[in-house]
Amino acid sequence: MASTIVLSIVFTISLWFIFWLLILYFQHTENIKKCLLEPMFKFPIVIFESDDWGTGSFNQQTALTRINTLLAQYTDSTGSHPVMTLGVILAEPDVAKIKASNQQIYYKRTLADSRYAKLREAIQQGIDQGTFAVHLHGMEHFWPASLMQSAQNNPQVQQWLFNNDSLQTEDLPSELQSRWVDSSQIPSREHSPEDIQRAIDEELSLYAEIFGQTPKIVVPPTFVWTDEVEKAYAARGIEVWITPGRQCTGRDKQRLPKPNGRLFWNGQEQGGLLFLVRNNYFEPSIGHTAETALQGILAKTQCGRPALLETHRFNFIDETENNSSLQELDKLLQLMHTHLPNVRFMSVTQLAKIMKDHNRGITTEVIVDSKRQRTRILFARIKSLLQFNRIAKYSGINFLLKAV
Ligand SMILES: [Zn+2]
Repeated sequence: MASTIVLSIVFTISLWFIFWLLILYFQHTENIKKCLLEPMFKFPIVIFESDDWGTGSFNQQTALTRINTLLAQYTDSTGSHPVMTLGVILAEPDVAKIKASNQQIYYKRTLADSRYAKLREAIQQGIDQGTFAVHLHGMEHFWPASLMQSAQNNPQVQQWLFNNDSLQTEDLPSELQSRWVDSSQIPSREHSPEDIQRAIDEELSLYAEIFGQTPKIVVPPTFVWTDEVEKAYAARGIEVWITPGRQCTGRDKQRLPKPNGRLFWNGQEQGGLLFLVRNNYFEPSIGHTAETALQGILAKTQCGRPALLETHRFNFIDETENNSSLQELDKLLQLMHTHLPNVRFMSVTQLAKIMKDHNRGITTEVIVDSKRQRTRILFARIKSLLQFNRIAKYSGINFLLKAV
C-alpha cells in the first residue's frame, strides 16, 4: 500500500516536471536550436574588447604602452599573449576651422595627423607584439551633422565643441554618441542610404591609409545601427560584426537605445557577416573587479563560450584610474594564470576564423568533439537560458536543473 502511494507521488511529480519541461521546450525551441548551433569551445577563451581609442587625449599613448607592456608579460600554453582589441575612432572635430567658418561648417582632424604619430606608433607596437588588434569603431563617435545641429541649441554640446581642450566623445550626451542615426532630434531618425554609403567609403579609405589595410571587423558605436548600415559595410568587405547580442536601430523618446527584437548568437552568419557577442564587462573604473571578471569567464567557459570582456579606454586614460585599472587587469591575468591554466588567448580575427570553419564542418582542436562534453555544455547553456524564466522558476524546473 505504502509503495503504491510512493509510486503515485513519484508519478505525479514526474508528470508535473514533464508537463512544464514540454511547455518550456515549445517556448524556447528556437533558443535551444541556437544553443546547439553556437560553437562549443573546449578551452576558456578570453579576449579584451576595448573601444574608443584614436583621436582625443594624448594620455592614450602612455596608457597603451603600459597596457602593451603588461599584456606582453603573460602567455597561454601555446605562447600567445592576451589580446586587447582596440576599437578605433579615426577623427575628431577641427574646432579652429569650424569656428573660422562662423560655426557653420564641420571640419575634421584625423588620426593620420602628425600630432598622433606617437599614438599610432604605440598601437603598431602592440600589433607587432601580438597584444593589440585594431577594429573599426567609426570615423567619429558621432554623426557630424547631428553634432553641429545640437551645438546650436544644446549648451552642453556647444560647450563640448567650442570650449573644451580634450574633445573626449565620452563626455557627449549618450544619444549623440550613436553615429549611425541622427539623434539631434529625439526620437532619432535614420540617415539616408547615400549619406551612409558615402560615410562608410570615407571611413574605409582613411582606415586603410592609416593601418595599411582595409578593416574586416566593425564595432558600431553604442551598438546602434540600422540594416542599411550593416548592408553597406558588408558590401564593402567587412566580415565580422561585434554585437552585445542584440540590435538597436535608434534612440527612443527617453534617448535610450531602441532594440528591434533581433538577437544574435556567437558565430551566427547572415548577409555575408559573422556576428560575435560581447558577453562580459571588465570596467575597473566603475567597480568591476578581477574576481568578478574571473567568475564571468568561468561561467562562459562552462557554457563552452568565449569570454569577450568589454573594457573602454576611459578606464585607462585618466592617470589615477589608469594605475588602478592596470593593477586590476594585472590581477585578473594572474588569477587566470592560476585558475585557468588551459586558457587560450587569441584575436577576434582568429576566433571568427575558428567559428567560420566550424560552420563549414571544419573542426579545430579548440572545438568540443566528444558527445558527452557537448551534452554537458548544452545542459549548461539551457540552465543559463532559463535562469530568469518565471515558468522555470515557479514550476521547480530550475531547482531540478540545479540538482542534476
Ligand atoms: Zn564607443
